[in-house]
Amino acid sequence: MKNNHSIKQITIFCGSSDGNLNSYQKEAYKLGATLAQNGIGVIYGGAKIGLMGAVAQGALHHAGHVTGIIPSFLCKKEVTHEGLSELIIVESMHARKMKMHDMCDGFIAMPGGIGTLEELFEILTWAQLGRHQKPIGILNTENYYDTLLHFMEEMIARNFVRPVNKELFIVERDIDILLQKMRDYQAPELPRWMKEKQE
Ligand code: AMP
Repeated sequence: MKNNHSIKQITIFCGSSDGNLNSYQKEAYKLGATLAQNGIGVIYGGAKIGLMGAVAQGALHHAGHVTGIIPSFLCKKEVTHEGLSELIIVESMHARKMKMHDMCDGFIAMPGGIGTLEELFEILTWAQLGRHQKPIGILNTENYYDTLLHFMEEMIARNFVRPVNKELFIVERDIDILLQKMRDYQAPELPRWMKEKQE
């Protein structure tokens, strides 16, 4: 049976840089616009630079609701987006991730750098430990994540990742299909020992 998550807010992880192709910016803007058109609020890191800024602009230009969550040490005039629906200033990177997690119904990672990967992998780690069952989408613009996905296969082949953990994330190049798959997402079963610990 399908789950059909009601998705009201999505946390976006993406680059604070633009990348080497215009298509990254364009797709980030389109992601923000599509979420707004679907009545889905955007939660993200609160910056106006790079793909982060493009997602926020896409949503704001289409009457979307955008929440920025930013640690105080990053909250500088040059980077902070000052036209957001809501800006939440937190004490640390950890507090930011926790707040992003608590407020959203799912996550999407777009192309980005070390910060984006760190956020994606922390939220995947929480999922593999059963700390949340929210859908995690990877928007694979320009096949950016292909080599990483290949490495995931390598981790599975070498028995460092359980094959079932591939079901913890959804990879798509099309935004609408990704959203539909996230609505239909069903978290994989946890191993029994883990379930017992959580009960
Ligand atoms: P990166 O992929 O290394 O460019 O880092 C992007 C991710 O890290 C975003 O999803 C943000 O949450 C966070 N981040 C990095 N740089 C900034 C910044 N200048 N302002 C706010 N958040 C940032």
